[in-house]
Amino acid sequence: MEKYDTIIVGAGPAGLEAALVLAEAGKNTLVVEKNETIGQTICAGGLTIKDMDFVPKNIVDVEFNYMLLHTAKGSYDVDLGSHPVFMVNREKLGQWMAKEAQRAGARIGTSCRVSAVDGNHIVVNGEKIGFDHLVGGDGSNSIVRKSLDIPVNKTVIGIQYISKTLRKDFEVFVDDFKNVLKYSWIFPHSEFTSIGMGGSTGKAALMRRSLDDLCERLSIERTRFEAARINIDYKGIVFGNRFLAGDAAGIASGLTGEGIYQAILSGEEVAKGIMNKEYAYPGIKHLLKLKTRQERLLNIFGMNQYIPHILFNNAVPFLLKKRGLCRMINDKFNLV
Ligand SMILES: Cc1cc2nc3c(=O)[nH]c(=O)nc-3n(C[C@H](O)[C@H](O)[C@H](O)COP(=O)(O)OP(=O)(O)OC[C@H]3O[C@@H](n4cnc5c(N)ncnc54)[C@H](O)[C@@H]3O)c2cc1C
Repeated sequence: MEKYDTIIVGAGPAGLEAALVLAEAGKNTLVVEKNETIGQTICAGGLTIKDMDFVPKNIVDVEFNYMLLHTAKGSYDVDLGSHPVFMVNREKLGQWMAKEAQRAGARIGTSCRVSAVDGNHIVVNGEKIGFDHLVGGDGSNSIVRKSLDIPVNKTVIGIQYISKTLRKDFEVFVDDFKNVLKYSWIFPHSEFTSIGMGGSTGKAALMRRSLDDLCERLSIERTRFEAARINIDYKGIVFGNRFLAGDAAGIASGLTGEGIYQAILSGEEVAKGIMNKEYAYPGIKHLLKLKTRQERLLNIFGMNQYIPHILFNNAVPFLLKKRGLCRMINDKFNLV
């Protein structure tokens, strides 16, 4: 039986970052990815400034220094100042990360679906491959997590259309919390637009109707619909010689659904933990602090629809205006 020091299931940002760090340290590392092409993931591809610690600017598609924020009372042009937002094509990000990991010496097998994890081996396309360490970087429906008997009890859902209609502004909509706690986005890329919505998993049908309405209002073509649950049920990352990172670990933000940064950082942390049993996981501790704060806010918003309504219609614009960071542009974007 073929055997590796570490096998990583899933060539997403979590798995590929773990592979890079381990391979750079000379560890015999294999990544197995079920898809034929790396990076074909349901995602809007929005990155914030903290992602730039890991992602080079030259693979960024579009950069925004402002955001159009649409509330029920009006629309605002918000200056993002030193916190620009970047759009990246997930396939491009995946291909770049895979090349970096391979350059460092990691092996990557595509069209390799893991069908079972048993003792110290996995089964890929009917063949057993042994490991000393196993990393689950296999997303929200992780087979590695299942092998650990850790259920996923908390998820949020992201839905989007990948549209041929090109848009020029980065836009966020926090204008309606009546039937479901949700927010919508328009993320313009150079060759397509992601128009999507994040919210409660149980309200997906309502959200889809609302997203359809928004597309209709803005004359955005609904070219391809996509939806996926995001695991936010964090239960730890180290389980003996098995590790979880990224969405498999449930480390994404329950408030925004943002998970690329969390995936990359947790992948790096898991790799360091594999190499040093005494490693204290400072990055994970930092992520968890942030996640706890955000999910507390989510719980407060969920108590009563008027709480997010008042916050986004009154408090947020007031604070932004006070700091000279936004101006009302309701006449131009009269959407609500
Ligand atoms: C609609 C939507 C929009 C989003 N937009 C954003 C955004 O703008 N910004 C942001 O930061 N986050 C966003 N996210 C979240 C983000 O996509 C994820 O948090 C991130 O991709 C997690 O990375 P990961 O490496 O943990 O998992 P993934 O990127 O899901 O990668 C997991 C990999 O494992 C592979 N795999 C799964 N099972 C197996 C198996 N059995 N065998 C082999 N391989 C397997 C998959 O094919 C996949 O390649 C969005 C999510 C959704 C649903």
